[in-house]
Amino acid sequence: MRRLNRAARYICCLFAAYILFFSFCINIAAEAQIIYRYASKTGPARIALTFDDGPHPKYTPLILDILEEFEIHATFFAVGSNVEAYPDLVKRIAKEGHELGNHTYHHNHMAKMSLEDLTQDINRCNDAIEKITGSRPRYFRPPEGVCTKNVQEICSATNTTIVMWSVDTRDWAHTPISEIFQNVRRNTKNGSIILMHDFIGKNSPTPQALRQIIPMLLELGYEFVTVSQLLEGG
Ligand SMILES: [Zn+2]
Repeated sequence: MRRLNRAARYICCLFAAYILFFSFCINIAAEAQIIYRYASKTGPARIALTFDDGPHPKYTPLILDILEEFEIHATFFAVGSNVEAYPDLVKRIAKEGHELGNHTYHHNHMAKMSLEDLTQDINRCNDAIEKITGSRPRYFRPPEGVCTKNVQEICSATNTTIVMWSVDTRDWAHTPISEIFQNVRRNTKNGSIILMHDFIGKNSPTPQALRQIIPMLLELGYEFVTVSQLLEGG
């Protein structure tokens, strides 16, 4: 009898392990690739500057001028409605060698959106960018970093990589430039993805902060690259 109990327990354990393994496989299959930072083990330490929420006629040109001055490239996670409103800025971003990523069309809070609405919104932003630049974004950044199961499902189905960040400059909160500087200096490492914005209401500290953090990071030996260069080399 005792032997029978042991055998039954053994079969139960095997069955549970079987179920766990398969649910794990199903979860993996539904998940998109999500990147926070990516460090290459060879070559110089590389980092990616990223700008969300634009383009915007007040700040995007200022930021592009600064990037041009330092001869570095960045990635702009653009909002589709702004892309349609300011196509010339999108053309300039692409022409000057920067990368464009998707930051949704409306910048809505995605946790409250249905799978269907979310799919439409993300596709509409991709369409707007592709229409102007000729290439469809391969990277997506969810507004406010809200990375729901629906978002992951859509990105997984369209082979789009979700790009989060590892250093938040908090420029969006109008953080004083000295604090942005200290935060970036303390927290930037090989492979860091730095979050900034090319649209913030009222007075944005971003252009002035960039004038201080870019020389500091260059001095520390970092190479500035786009997100694709960071993730794929080149
Ligand atoms: Zn945003």
